Amino acid sequence: MTCPACDRYVTIEDWTDDEPFNCPHCHTLLKLVTDEGGYCGASEKSLEIQEDD
Ligand SMILES: [Zn+2]
Repeated sequence: MTCPACDRYVTIEDWTDDEPFNCPHCHTLLKLVTDEGGYCGASEKSLEIQEDD
């Protein structure tokens, strides 16, 4: 999985954990999101930048 902010590789330890975490490289707050729109019932996982409000 690649960080959307700095484009460097980020290891995902728990794919079921959707708690936001900091990128180890650029420290941007990231969140693992599931896109349920995949074909064959597959769900795509991706990293999104978590906006701080
Ligand atoms: Zn990063």
